[in-house]
Amino acid sequence: MIANYGYKDGSGEYYISMNTDKCDGCGDCVTACPAGVLEMIVNDYDEKVAAVTDAHRKKIKYSCAPCKPVQGRPVLPCIAACQPQVIQHSW
Ligand code: SF4
Ligand code: SF4
Repeated sequence: MIANYGYKDGSGEYYISMNTDKCDGCGDCVTACPAGVLEMIVNDYDEKVAAVTDAHRKKIKYSCAPCKPVQGRPVLPCIAACQPQVIQHSW
């Protein structure tokens, strides 16, 4: 299942998508995120998976802005931390 967290506004679409089928519950993305955007939850299928916290879902454009690639910067910390490639950002 793909779980989408975020919103769109006049400036664009800001979604973090989690392919929960691939998430192994390791928690490495939570540790890697410097802004506390991510957390581990137990979903409706009783699986421990990564999610975006309620507090950040309505402002992820701003929460994630310090991480977003500028020239010479590496891949996002959350994506770099996730071996199974669960996490995608729409922007
Ligand atoms: S882009 Fe940065 S702030 Fe946003 S979820 Fe990933 S690690 Fe956290
Ligand atoms: S790093 Fe990837 S596999 Fe591990 S909890 Fe986060 S999303 Fe799931």
